Amino acid sequence: MAAIANSLLAALPRKSYLRLLPGLIPVELGFGEVLYEPGKPIRDVYFPGQSLVSLLTLVEGHLALEVGLVGREGMVGVPLALGIGASPVRALVQGAGPALRMSAAGFRRELSRSPPLQRELYRYVHTLMAQISQTAGCNRFHVVEARLARWLLMTRDRVRSGEFRMTHEFLSHMLGVRRVGVTEAASALQRRKLIEYSRGNIKILDHRGLQQAACACYEGLKD
Ligand SMILES: [Zn+2]
Repeated sequence: MAAIANSLLAALPRKSYLRLLPGLIPVELGFGEVLYEPGKPIRDVYFPGQSLVSLLTLVEGHLALEVGLVGREGMVGVPLALGIGASPVRALVQGAGPALRMSAAGFRRELSRSPPLQRELYRYVHTLMAQISQTAGCNRFHVVEARLARWLLMTRDRVRSGEFRMTHEFLSHMLGVRRVGVTEAASALQRRKLIEYSRGNIKILDHRGLQQAACACYEGLKD
């Protein structure tokens, strides 16, 4: 059997994983694809492999701000694990790549009869709640440059690559600031030779330096 890319699934006992397997459909998530809209039903859950999904809260219907980031360590669609059928957030693919998809009905059925899956999911829901709380504090108290550095590191940890595609517009939604704010923060990191940013591509040049430039929330979110 091939290595399981998603670590939540990989943590399941083999028997539990094998029972889930027939319901898991390999899909390729595309950059910018919207998986859920706030208030709308969740039709499928997703277990990212190399892909990365951003959870955005909408303010006044159009101002978006990232409150969570889901990669190989988790699952998109956690409300279903708590018996809720609609998403409170917009789920947007920010890193294209493979994921495993399962229908909401199939997931609910498997969850109800798999204590190991329940255990892994509750653990993950707790981690995600901690991430969302920390992000709320970070967004309020830390400057854009430090937040951008944190965000780049979190992205890198999940996609396991120091180079990814990212537009200014996308970053402005992630960080909840205007595009000019993103440009200034990215230029500052670039001047310090921590990243290279051109034509929508970001490359991390100095990982340690970027860690020093990031706010303490990065370490907090890792633990
Ligand atoms: Zn912070």
